[in-house]
Amino acid sequence: VWLQAQSNLAKVLTHQTYNTWIQPIKFNGANKNTLILSVPNEFIKERIAEHYLPMIIESICSLTNSQYTVELQITPQESKQSTATKRDAAKTAAEPGQQPQADYSTNLNPKYTFETFVCGGSNQFAHAAAQSVANNPAGKYNPLFIYGGVGLGKTHLLNAIGNDVLTRNKKARICFYTSEKFMNELINCLRYQKMDQFRNKFRKMDILLIDDIQFIAGKERTQEEFFHTFNSLYESHKQIIVTSDKFPKDIPGLEERLRSRFEWGLIADIQPPDTETKIAILKKKAESDKIVLPDDVSLFLASSATSNVRELEGMLIRLGAVASLTGKNITLDMAREVLKDIIVDKTKEVTVEMIQKYVAEHFGIKVTELKSDKRLKALVVPRQIAIYLCRELTKASYPEIGEKFGGKDHSTIIHSTKKVEKLLSQNFELKSTIDTLKKGLLT
Ligand code: ADP
Ligand code: MG
Repeated sequence: VWLQAQSNLAKVLTHQTYNTWIQPIKFNGANKNTLILSVPNEFIKERIAEHYLPMIIESICSLTNSQYTVELQITPQESKQSTATKRDAAKTAAEPGQQPQADYSTNLNPKYTFETFVCGGSNQFAHAAAQSVANNPAGKYNPLFIYGGVGLGKTHLLNAIGNDVLTRNKKARICFYTSEKFMNELINCLRYQKMDQFRNKFRKMDILLIDDIQFIAGKERTQEEFFHTFNSLYESHKQIIVTSDKFPKDIPGLEERLRSRFEWGLIADIQPPDTETKIAILKKKAESDKIVLPDDVSLFLASSATSNVRELEGMLIRLGAVASLTGKNITLDMAREVLKDIIVDKTKEVTVEMIQKYVAEHFGIKVTELKSDKRLKALVVPRQIAIYLCRELTKASYPEIGEKFGGKDHSTIIHSTKKVEKLLSQNFELKSTIDTLKKGLLT
């Protein structure tokens, strides 16, 4: 079954993706409905788990017509063939991520580049900051602190900076570390009394990229060591870039002296992508994975509640797998069926009236007040939100909405929609209110 599944996957994935990630996987037995697959190392395991597992499972399930789960085990494979695949994997990973220098590994993921990053309103600032730093390391913005929610592209941007610098300057010493990995290495070096080696390594970097810095909060020794690393790099005009899921001030347990250092440079945020950006990302991804994705389907995926790009990609990969395994083209109906547990179908008719009633109830006001022209703040905000939701969730035109809001003209409706759109990018509370309302309306 695995060999068959593998060869089916080979048809859907690009040659390079397949060779790097799927081909090295070996069948290693089954236990009831769990298929045990072995992979050569931790790195490959993580990547597969993150990107290809749904596809693999889909492929196995549709071959066998029954439910299987998959467990990934790490088994170092030393046979000739696997050495060759490993070499292949290393080779693909080598461009442009790896370095000839043998004394350290950049840990960069070569897939995450500026070329593969879609820039939209939500990530424009962070993207521009990242590019500026890549073009001019240790220039204006040091350190660069990128923060934003899960799956919004922080790790991608961080790698993109490193990869970009390396394409232009092969000799640059760059390394990418998650803060956890930084900590583990520190612990190891402490245990085996190799702290000199540790310090030497990090302090000799030209660019240090630390992902998810929030995890060092509360870890005293790690913060201490990172603090010294930071100072040493900063003083020798080397670039430091960190990412976090929170603004420095909002990371509990982060030492004050580190917090203030993070604020020395530039702090850039990534916001959840809007629908257009989601669509653009999906299209780009579909193109690179050679998945034919009709417009109505990409809109359907993008309209799902999630703003986590990783989840969006997961849906796309799943659709791609189903399409190729069943030999059918992706259609809206197929997407609805395959993703029915994930995407609440927005085409479930939501009407202007339903929105008015729901929003009025939420804010404890009357529908008549919502439709009125009264300029009380307690009414204006709910009214604008309701109008915005009507645009988002129904097919009603501006004049139609205006009509149903006590006969307002369409410029008022446009104004309200624009206003909410603008506020959404700045106001987290409003965003979460609207998300809650949307969810409530759609389920
Ligand atoms: P984070 O580190 O913020 O949790 P990641 O950088 O891991 O998020 O992004 C999750 C996935 O979404 C990755 O596969 C990444 O390539 C993709 N992704 C996120 N944002 C974008 C974007 N703007 N353009 C293209 N791909 C993106
Ligand atoms: Mg990340």
